[in-house]
Amino acid sequence: MPTLPLEGGCHCGALRYQVTAAPLMVYNCHCRNCQRIGGGAFSTNVTIPRGTLEFVRGEPAKLTWKSDASAERFGWLCGDCHGRIAHGWEEASPPILNVRSGTLDDSSWVSPVVDMWAASAQPWITFSADRFRVEQQPAELTAYQPFFEAFRAQRNFPE
Ligand SMILES: [Zn+2]
Ligand SMILES: [Zn+2]
Repeated sequence: MPTLPLEGGCHCGALRYQVTAAPLMVYNCHCRNCQRIGGGAFSTNVTIPRGTLEFVRGEPAKLTWKSDASAERFGWLCGDCHGRIAHGWEEASPPILNVRSGTLDDSSWVSPVVDMWAASAQPWITFSADRFRVEQQPAELTAYQPFFEAFRAQRNFPE
């Protein structure tokens, strides 16, 4: 199992970060924004409590957009290589941040517990019966509790 803090960075190395708290879950996002931003079929993200990621090298550039559910979102990315590090909600809810799993130095433990935005998944995607699947993305944090519990059961992070 990984130990805290989790460490990671962007493609060019100008940005380095640490995550100081145990993640809440891992999910795949099949929304159209993730498809366009990453240039692939979906993104895989590690959800952490807001405020538990700190940049230890470099300062991220920031961009904002409206999600497929029309929520104000923001992303942190490297100003040099433009690699995406994390994204979250601009407004107060929910108090979580989503880190792109591929930016972790060690992503070998990453295993999604839920597929979000299944409604816009690429047609060739096969969903696993071992994961939750939601057509869009819940707006309320209470809806995430089953996903958090599944992740805790799967990955017993040391505190
Ligand atoms: Zn970079
Ligand atoms: Zn997405």
